[in-house]
This record gives sequence, structure tokens and C-alpha cells, in this order.
Amino acid sequence: MAANRRLGTAKQAALNRFRKRMQDASCIFCRIVRGEIPCSKVYEDEQVLAFLDIHPIAPVHFLLIPKEHVPTLSEAQAVHEAVLGKMMGLAHRLAREQGADDGFRLIVNTGRVGRQEVLHVHMHVLGGKEPLGSMLPRPKT
Ligand code: AMP
Ligand code: ZN
Repeated sequence: MAANRRLGTAKQAALNRFRKRMQDASCIFCRIVRGEIPCSKVYEDEQVLAFLDIHPIAPVHFLLIPKEHVPTLSEAQAVHEAVLGKMMGLAHRLAREQGADDGFRLIVNTGRVGRQEVLHVHMHVLGGKEPLGSMLPRPKT
């Protein structure tokens, strides 16, 4: 029992060292992951963190991030596919738990054209009881 606990602690310490290597000291979302900046946590596991957006634009608006620092979706590698897939599955479950029980919108702003402001991959999960506004205004024809 004690040996199991020791193994668990060693594993946790190794995981923490690994995570430290995988984070960016100045990135605001990495700082949230490390607990240096507070957040309103919605969900957390070893790979993923979800928290309320500080400036919500819908009744339900939270962010889902991988704990590993990946700046943009354009820079994600094959090794990140599992965690990105997991985040999409969680988006549905957490959206329902947060009150978006009849659909939601997932947005991943990417790079300059996508107007990504925080350079740590994040999914915006948006919803509420009523349909959201249209995605982007359609150009007039
Ligand atoms: P994006 O334009 O996709 O990079 O969006 C970044 C999002 O992060 C914005 O919606 C911000 O309101 C949100 N945000 C920035 N700082 C924080 C923070 N400390 N806690 C929660 N959300 C934040
Ligand atoms: Zn980061």
C-alpha cells in the first residue's frame, strides 16, 4: 500500500516535470494551468483544462485547452490528435452540463487570419437556451 502510494507520488512528480517542460513561462493559459492566474474551472484532468471565458459573449462560454503548450492549431502535430479529439468529446458533455443542452458552437480561432489573440490552442464553447447569432455576416450579393 505504502509502496503503491510512493509509486503514485513518483509518477506524479515525473508528470509535473514533463508538464513544466511542455509549458511556456509567459503564456497566460500556461499560467492558468500552473495555478498562477485564477480561473473559474469547469473541468480538469491530466491533459485538459476547461474554464469560463473572462469576457463571455454568450450565456454559456467556456474555453477548453490542452495543458501542453501548443501555440496554434496550425502547429499541432499528429501526437496531439488524441487530446484534440478528447477535447471535442468533452465540449459536448461540458456544454450540456453548463446549460447548453440543445446544441452549441465550437470555435478555434487560429493564427492571424483567424484573429487568435492567445497563442495557446483553445476551443471556445458557446451556447445557451436560444440560438446564437449567425457565424459571420454573409457578404452582400
Ligand atoms: P482568442 O481570440 O480565440 O485567442 O480568444 C482568447 C479568449 O481568451 C478571449 O475570449 C478572452 O476573453 C479569453 N481570456 C483571456 N484571458 C483570460 C483569462 N485570464 N481567463 C479566462 N479567459 C481569458
Ligand atoms: Zn501556453
